[in-house]
Amino acid sequence: MTVKNIIVGAGISGATVARVLADRGEQALVVDKKPHIGGNCYDYYDRNGICIHKYGTHIFHTDVKPAWDFVSRFTEWHPYMHKVVGLIDGQLVPIPFNLNSMRQVFPEALAARLEDKLIARFGFNKKVPILELRKTDDDDLNFLAEYVYQKVFLFYTMKQWGVKPEELDPAVTGRVPVYVSRDDRYFQNRWQGIPQKGYTAMLEKMLAHRNITVKLDTSWNDIKQECRDCRIFYTGPVDELMDWRFGDLPYRSITLEFREYDREFFQSHSVVNYPENYDFTRIGEYKYFLNDISPRTVVSFEYPSAYRRGVNEPYYPIAGEENAALHEKYLAAAHAEYPDIHFLGRLGDYRYYDMDKAVARTLKLMENL
Ligand code: UDP
Repeated sequence: MTVKNIIVGAGISGATVARVLADRGEQALVVDKKPHIGGNCYDYYDRNGICIHKYGTHIFHTDVKPAWDFVSRFTEWHPYMHKVVGLIDGQLVPIPFNLNSMRQVFPEALAARLEDKLIARFGFNKKVPILELRKTDDDDLNFLAEYVYQKVFLFYTMKQWGVKPEELDPAVTGRVPVYVSRDDRYFQNRWQGIPQKGYTAMLEKMLAHRNITVKLDTSWNDIKQECRDCRIFYTGPVDELMDWRFGDLPYRSITLEFREYDREFFQSHSVVNYPENYDFTRIGEYKYFLNDISPRTVVSFEYPSAYRRGVNEPYYPIAGEENAALHEKYLAAAHAEYPDIHFLGRLGDYRYYDMDKAVARTLKLMENL
């Protein structure tokens, strides 16, 4: 084989590496064991003309200009601002829980008092992780913290991670803080949107270069004999690469149950969270992302579970010292076996990256190679 660079995984990290190499004039072979590119960002148009995110709702949002500029070379953007509501006490209220959510669920006088206290304590437009808010010594703020903890975080997190919020890395629940603001958007990043023709089209364009070859339905094991001297960019799970010799790295998975309805809309927002009820965490309705017009609609119910090899897909690495140490041990073993290997992506780095962080991390890696 003459190709020097082998990229395992055609997701957003793998496609980014391939393109950076190709732009430099280097050949890159991208393999993916799935029958499609895009990894978990993969989307497709269904028979109703609705763009479905096969692995759950994906919204691109970033403050990292190089990442935004890079992906923007391969797509126009549909200017979309993500808003999520959660069913709390029978009402659909903005998530992250904010001053508007408070007005909806509390009597006016209580909401006004809490608002004053939140602003006095934390400042307007500040984001307060729930685990921080729980540390307050003020009775009213304590009441608020307990309410939000119980109604927004506890059961949702138990469903999503199988443990209580305080047993998780604080950065996880910190992604969805209590927001001392009337801004109902899920993200406040400068750049946000959905690729106008979808993520798959964006990544197809990224990979469309004469120096890039893509082989689908092809796993690392299928090609590894051919490329002992290659430089390897590995975006999959490192425990799998090393045949699970030190045991399984844990991941959380999601099973998406897609349902199609013969009506124009199913719900009021693209994503509705169910932090208090049911076994699913949220329902996504896909036509909202690109304003697809159809008399029918498609939604997905998200059921989280532990990842099991061969049964479901790894979606989320689980942060924590023990898992990080196991990941490090695997990395050391992999580097000993493969002298020129680089890990990246949510699975390869075992980091809870958003799409922009995966791109940013890859661009950074390539600066030094
Ligand atoms: N979370 C929660 N209730 C919510 C939304 C989020 O408890 O209504 C917690 C939960 O632990 C979740 C984490 O915040 O895993 C991060 O949420 P995010 O929406 O960022 O997760 P993702 O979209 O990456 O699955």
